[in-house]
Amino acid sequence: MMFWFSIGTLLGGSLIFFSRYARRPAGIQNDGIVFGQLTARGVFGWILGVVFTGFYVVLYWFPQALEHLVRMFDSLSHALRGRTADQWFLYSFFYTFAVIVMGVRAILRYRHVRYQIVRTISVVFFQLGFAFLIPQLMQLLNEPELYFSYFWPLDYDLLWPSTISDLFSSSGRLGAFMVIWGAILTFIATPVLTYFFGKRWYCSWVCGCGGLAETLGDPFRQLSSKSLTAWRVERWMVHGVLAFVVLSTALLWLNAAFGGAILGGLSGSLSRTYGFAIGAVFSGVIGVGFYPLMGSRVWCRFGCPMAAILGLLQKYFSRFRITTNGGQCISCGNCSKYCEMGIDVRWYAQRGQNIIRASCVGCGVCSAVCPRGVLKLENAPTTGRYNGPVLIDRDQVSVITDEWPS
Ligand code: SF4
Ligand code: SF4
Repeated sequence: MMFWFSIGTLLGGSLIFFSRYARRPAGIQNDGIVFGQLTARGVFGWILGVVFTGFYVVLYWFPQALEHLVRMFDSLSHALRGRTADQWFLYSFFYTFAVIVMGVRAILRYRHVRYQIVRTISVVFFQLGFAFLIPQLMQLLNEPELYFSYFWPLDYDLLWPSTISDLFSSSGRLGAFMVIWGAILTFIATPVLTYFFGKRWYCSWVCGCGGLAETLGDPFRQLSSKSLTAWRVERWMVHGVLAFVVLSTALLWLNAAFGGAILGGLSGSLSRTYGFAIGAVFSGVIGVGFYPLMGSRVWCRFGCPMAAILGLLQKYFSRFRITTNGGQCISCGNCSKYCEMGIDVRWYAQRGQNIIRASCVGCGVCSAVCPRGVLKLENAPTTGRYNGPVLIDRDQVSVITDEWPS
């Protein structure tokens, strides 16, 4: 009873929230965004950051504090997966609820752009179906819980020898299917789809982390740092995590091939270290907890090994680019401001240069907020993708010179 009352209250609150958005003009209005207490790291932003971060800390390290809340979800948990609720069921539910509610908000906000509507429906669909309902159903059938939209290296232990042998031995043909599914998505679907569509097919259309960033994180996207220092740190960190996942996977396979002679008991601590440092602290506590302070894509920019691989493919082996019609740019800066990946889009637009950045997740919001229609997300032949003509280069503009004509 209490559970349904709470859900009803949440839905009622959401409806009031939607009605506000439906009455506003479509798009971003820039109304008070740099002064808002919530949207510009003001008091409310800090409070929300502490609440989000605190929730993750409790979830990971003090789950007993959530006991009463968890028990409220028992009936739903029984209906979906045939067992009582635990903190992870609660988390999945809240996560999916947030993606749906804030997804409706995103659709209302960007209702003038079809790309944004379809993309948002896609992330809601994948979160609800592939990351919430199907894994629960698998538990109901006493099968291992598998998130069909997460694969290596985001699901960092999917290709570890211990996981593969567990899946084969405990789940028979279904386990074999899961391993093959993960391998096909990792080694075939990822490069092929990224070649044709860039990393957006995953980061902005399928991934649950991206889905949360594009919905719950949307009010904070302008907080991503656009500084060169952030760009430098981002490249070191995200590729460092990728290197760690690749090396640890290779090491574990070598260790298995030599009958455990290389790592001994260390293989377990390798898994625990990654799970704690990257899986819990980085992707959860910092990745989501810092939305109101550092923008919506902290994890995707600085920590996600999947984003790192997709980014390398996008940069060197893809048809995707954002083209810029530089002659139309009025340098308003909307595009740079609302780029959640911290890309200074305006810099490219002013030069009329294609934007080919490993970090671009193809969310399309830079294009949606441009008042002049300068930016276009395109998949086109790779010829001329790089090194296209630059409209205005810094060497071509000289406002003050030492040799001012007399
Ligand atoms: S450059 Fe544009 S499409 Fe790419 S991440 Fe930034 S806002 Fe999204
Ligand atoms: S590309 Fe569009 S949004 Fe970006 S600075 Fe130019 S006019 Fe403004």
